[in-house]
Parts: sequence; C-alpha cells; structure tokens
Amino acid sequence: MSGSALYETFARIPLAFDHGEGAWLVTDTGERYLDFAAGIAVNSLGHGHPHLVAALAEQAGKLWHVSNLYEIPGQRRLGERLAAATFADKVFFTNSGAEALECAIKTARRYQYVNGHPERYRIVTFEGAFHGRTLATIAAGGQQKYLEGFGPKVEGFDQVPFGDVDAAERAITPETAAILVEPVQGEGGIRPLSVQALKRLRQLCDKHGLLLILDEVQCGVGRTGRLFAYEWAGVSPDLMAIAKGIGGGFPMGACLATDAAAEGMTAGVHGTTFGGNPLAMAVGNAVLDVVLEEGFLDEVGRKALLFKQGLAAIADEFPQVIEEIRGAGLMLGLKCAMPNAKVNQALRDQHLLAVPAGENVIRLLPPLNVADEDIGEALRRIRAAAQGLADAVAAAAK
Ligand SMILES: *Cc1c(COP(=O)(O)O)cnc(C)c1O
Repeated sequence: MSGSALYETFARIPLAFDHGEGAWLVTDTGERYLDFAAGIAVNSLGHGHPHLVAALAEQAGKLWHVSNLYEIPGQRRLGERLAAATFADKVFFTNSGAEALECAIKTARRYQYVNGHPERYRIVTFEGAFHGRTLATIAAGGQQKYLEGFGPKVEGFDQVPFGDVDAAERAITPETAAILVEPVQGEGGIRPLSVQALKRLRQLCDKHGLLLILDEVQCGVGRTGRLFAYEWAGVSPDLMAIAKGIGGGFPMGACLATDAAAEGMTAGVHGTTFGGNPLAMAVGNAVLDVVLEEGFLDEVGRKALLFKQGLAAIADEFPQVIEEIRGAGLMLGLKCAMPNAKVNQALRDQHLLAVPAGENVIRLLPPLNVADEDIGEALRRIRAAAQGLADAVAAAAK
C-alpha cells in the first residue's frame, strides 16, 4: 500500500518542512536543517527573503493573472533587464526549465526554417546532459532511464561524449540546426565544460551556420559567481534557457535569444497561458534587484572560495569518503569514494541537506547569499559526517 494519492514518481525523503529562514529549514516538528540543496538550486536567495516576500505579497494584492492576451508591464521590465544584462535581445517567459528548453529548441529549428533551411532540424547534445522531462527534452538529454517506456524518442537529437568537441564536429550533418550544452552539468554530476571547449563550440556553430544553445537552468543567475556561466568563456550563445534561480522559489523560466535567432518566432507560432504571469514577474524582478546589486556576485565568488577550501581540507582528511571536490562558484560537488546515497544519508543525519547527482557525486548548492557562519556550520557538519563514515569503514576492516 502506497499510503498516498500521489504518483509514485518521487522517492521522497520522509521530512516535511513548515517554514524557512535564510539557509535554514524547519520541520513540522521543529527540527532545524541547514539547506544546501536550496530546492535544487532554486532558492537562490534562501527562504523567506524579505524583499522577495514583499514583492510577491504586493503583487498578490493587486493582480495575479491576465494571460498573454494583454500587456504585462512586469514582464516587459524583466525582459528588458535580462536583455540588458546578457547577450540577448529577446526573451520568452515560461513556467519551468523544460519549457524554456522547448522554446529554445523550437526557436532554433524555426530560425533555420525561415532562413531557407527547413531540412536543418537536428541538434547535437552531450552525454550526461539533463534538459528536463518533456518528450523533447528527454530526447535531448538522451538518458535511457528517462526515455524507457515512453514510446518513440523524439527525432532530431544526436549525442556525443561530454566535452568532446571533435565528436561534436563529426556529428554535424547538413541537417544540423544547433548545438545544445550545459556550461556546467548539474544532474550529470557537477561537470564544468572547459572554457576552451565552449569557445570551440562557438566557433563550430559559426563555421557551420548553427545556433549555440546554452542550458543555464541550473548554473545561471549568479550560481557560478558570474550572472551567467558563459561569461567565464568570453563567448555568447544565440539562445539560452534559464529557470530555477531566477524565480527564487516561484516557478518560472525564460528562453533568451538574439534578435537574429528569434527571427522566426512571430505572432502565433508559440505561446503559453501562465508563462510570464504578474506574480512570477514580480518575484523575478525582485531576484534581479538583489543579484544585480553592486558587489553581490563578487561576494558569491568569495563565499565559494571559502566553502571550496574548507571542502578540500575535508577531502584531504577523508579520502576514503570524498575523492574530489568539483564545480564552480556555489555549485559544488563531492565526488564520493563510497555510494553517494550513503554520504547523503550521513549528511542528513547531521541535519545538512544536499542533492545526489550522476557520477556518484553529492551536490552542494547553498543559497547565493549564504552567511559565512552558515558555511562554517556546513563544513563542521560535513566533516562530522565524513568522520563517522571513515570510522565505519575502519571498523568494518577490522
Ligand atoms: C532542472 C533542469 C532542467 C529542467 O527544469 P524543470 O524546471 O524541472 O523543467 C533543465 N536543465 C537543467 C540543466 C536543469 O538543471
């Protein structure tokens, strides 16, 4: 007996949280957990941020929803601000990351179509990628475990090994429209693409008339210490999907595009009922108010260094538990030397929340405004968990 009317698609941890304060979550029984999962990189400014709460409450008292039949001033404003802060000229708002990717995929195909290449619809993607759970995005991600049993895989995605630019070039055919990649793979195990690889993918796209699509759903909006991860490589994409952090916990996403890339997206060819609704836009604008504040991203970089150095010391002390620290900014991964589920459980026993990922990695994704003392507390808890696991390994060897 399942004991619940909900789909069994999530293997839920038996914890229910009642409220949150910054980097902390409090259960319905009053227990406090340090939240370094942040809703999977969603609660970018922690829980209960006063500026976000005020923005949402104020909008909730005025207007919730009107549909995209009418002008939405908050949407226009957020679009302009995102365009001003990035490579983009145009923005389409969605409710989720997968929908932002769907928009990017459709925009790329449509670009080739209106430029006289209807035969170019295929997209080169990378192994270990995660782009969402819709039919097209599971095809783009290419992971068998997400495709199995859901009928024919959506046509038009060609996968190559992660980071292998030569393989990407070999995969290009006269039918290729675009290359799609995460600058830092999240679900795949916190795997950063090298700056060199991203530059070369840009060159490949230019050489072959393809669009470069970035999936910054997880690594964007300040997570790596720059507003977007592509900035580290000094190149810009033609299209980019964002979500997670931009809403700070309110469901929203966006597809960003250059004028040229968005050329085919004319009135009526794409749409959404909820995307860009006034509540989401109020929160998205409030998130940007904070993240774009002078010095905010520098602080993310400083905190990230502090955290990473502490983690490296723990990995040095307990190599039988943690093999390696990887990642960028406040998107860090512990490559585990034992099953990551075991490490995650030990962290949770210390009341520290993290997220498992591919390649036997544990993701640590604290809020971008995490306090130094909370980083210190997290390090103490991670060390205690590693000590316990190392002691258990030693005891078992006796
Ligand atoms: C989470 C995620 C998605 C999917 O976002 P949803 O909001 O769950 O649809 C897509 N790409 C990346 C890189 C993600 O981390």
